[in-house]
Amino acid sequence: MDLPQPPPPAIRVIWPDTEQPPYERPCPNCGASGAKPHLLDVAWTAPKLKGGDRKPVFACPACTARFYPPLDVPNYHDPDVMDWGWHQFHIQQGAGLVPITETIGRIARPAGTRFLEIGCGYGFGLDFAIHALGWQGLGIDPSPMARLGTADLSITINDGYFPQADPAAALWDVIAATEVIEHVETPADLLAAIRARLNPGGLLLPDRDQPAPPARPRRLHRCRDGPRRPHPGRLRRRDRRRPDR
Ligand SMILES: [Zn+2]
Repeated sequence: MDLPQPPPPAIRVIWPDTEQPPYERPCPNCGASGAKPHLLDVAWTAPKLKGGDRKPVFACPACTARFYPPLDVPNYHDPDVMDWGWHQFHIQQGAGLVPITETIGRIARPAGTRFLEIGCGYGFGLDFAIHALGWQGLGIDPSPMARLGTADLSITINDGYFPQADPAAALWDVIAATEVIEHVETPADLLAAIRARLNPGGLLLPDRDQPAPPARPRRLHRCRDGPRRPHPGRLRRRDRRRPDR
């Protein structure tokens, strides 16, 4: 009996066999000049991306950050983004409720704490902060998923980008911006704007995890009758990441 072929992987990491051109512009993380070596390529496919796409990842020698060449900010208002089934995936599988609530729940601040979550998406973290911890919370997010979360969870999420979408002068006790900083063109400007909106003694929650930067797998194993490939134990996967972020 012929078994059905598994679908091709949606995301592939490609380690180059030959030296590729470096990135010559300033590092998007620390601003250092000079060449940043090419590390690997990431290729992916999507239902509406005919032929897929492939982007290089570079490594900054000065700050060790790994980065894509600065990307265009996606249009989160495009109705296509919901066609992907993004919200169903996020709500049922991708949100990472335990990491969100575990991290926010560790912050020892009393009821009434003023909490801003930048890039809150659907708003599970905000919902936990408001309804479980009794904080006063506001979210900021430009995606249609945020509008769904606003309706479903009875929370307030301003449509747009920080700091423009937080026009009030009042400062915040806790600001969360998880899995955000790697998506903005000028991370230092974002951090400066966050600092300007924090109360003295305020707290910034910048991310939920700090994965090790990718390194070329050293061990190879040979599958029977198959090609040599990286040992699967050497590969990392961030399955909590939102599909397009
Ligand atoms: Zn750098």
